[in-house]
Amino acid sequence: MPQTLRCWRLPPDSTLPMPIGRSILLAAAKSEALNSFALKSRVVKRATKAFMPGEKPEDALNAGAELVKDGRKIIYTKLGEALTQLADADKVRDHYLWLFDQIKTRGLPAHVSIKPTQLGLDQSESACLAHCLALAAKAESVGSALWLDMEDSTYVDRTLKLYEAVKAKHPSTGLALQSYLFRTPKDLERLRPLKPVIRLVKGAYAEPATVAFPKKSDTDEAYYQIASTMLEMATTGECTPILGTHDMPLIGRIIARANELKLAKGRYEVHMLYGIRSREQQRLRAEGHAVTVLVSYGDAWYRWYMRRLAERPANVWFVAKSIFG
Ligand SMILES: Cc1cc2nc3c(=O)[nH]c(=O)nc-3n(C[C@H](O)[C@H](O)[C@H](O)COP(=O)(O)OP(=O)(O)OC[C@H]3O[C@@H](n4cnc5c(N)ncnc54)[C@H](O)[C@@H]3O)c2cc1C
Repeated sequence: MPQTLRCWRLPPDSTLPMPIGRSILLAAAKSEALNSFALKSRVVKRATKAFMPGEKPEDALNAGAELVKDGRKIIYTKLGEALTQLADADKVRDHYLWLFDQIKTRGLPAHVSIKPTQLGLDQSESACLAHCLALAAKAESVGSALWLDMEDSTYVDRTLKLYEAVKAKHPSTGLALQSYLFRTPKDLERLRPLKPVIRLVKGAYAEPATVAFPKKSDTDEAYYQIASTMLEMATTGECTPILGTHDMPLIGRIIARANELKLAKGRYEVHMLYGIRSREQQRLRAEGHAVTVLVSYGDAWYRWYMRRLAERPANVWFVAKSIFG
């Protein structure tokens, strides 16, 4: 790598508090000015191709049809969050109702994941719940399932409440929990009676040290501990554990724990993002693991894309390469 490019690559951050690169990128994710610049910039748009097959739902549906050929499954998500008016949530709900029909027509083994704020959580909890119930019912009717993403820590209480209400009526509904939050082990216990379907992720937002581990190494260890609890719950049918991570050493440790507990492959799953660790996705699948790829699409990609850059600031190099050729 040329000397001048080394500056894009930050030092390993496993024991340091949130690295500067990550915090800058997460702060930039909130900038309206950068948002409108990026959405107009053809080069930045081109760089997003690494993480999304395209902006149109058809791009995602076509990419999904390719991915499932080796037995991987798909979760679709339309990018966009934090709506400013409730009426827009109706459009999002209608879009996903259409998408479930497309999933059925194309015979895809695909689920859908939504962000509660995309369905109006900020404006009206009851309207958001009604939308989620409509989508979960539709999912069930086409043999699919609905997932709720977890957004920043100010949304956790409301999202748990939403999940409890939807899960009670539609048992296949899944929820993301974040290992960087101190509260997550307790939240998992709270959900235990519901036999939750949990996608455990590390967490993608800039959180204060009062609520989340500042050190990545602590988040990683918490991930292992919570995943182990989920596996133990799975042995008695009290949880469906999903590992939402690209951290291969961590996945290896958790699979070893599943083997100790005699939990067969397929009783837990690995979920990764489109375009990240594709070879490992294929390898895990070839070894008989259940692997699902989360495919994003839509034109509101800026905030989401900045979070992907923040997860691995070395990715900024791909953007630089697109801009400077
Ligand atoms: C299926 C799925 C759903 C998710 N849903 C949510 C959610 O609802 N709420 C939420 O807060 N977060 C969500 N996330 C994001 C998650 O919180 C992490 O920010 C993200 O997964 C990066 O952490 P990691 O577990 O892969 O581990 P890391 O330790 O960050 O990464 C492990 C390795 O994976 C590779 N890698 C990780 N990220 C990237 C990247 N962006 N580009 C290139 N390589 C990378 C690198 O090689 C890295 O060394 C989701 C992630 C996945 C996979």
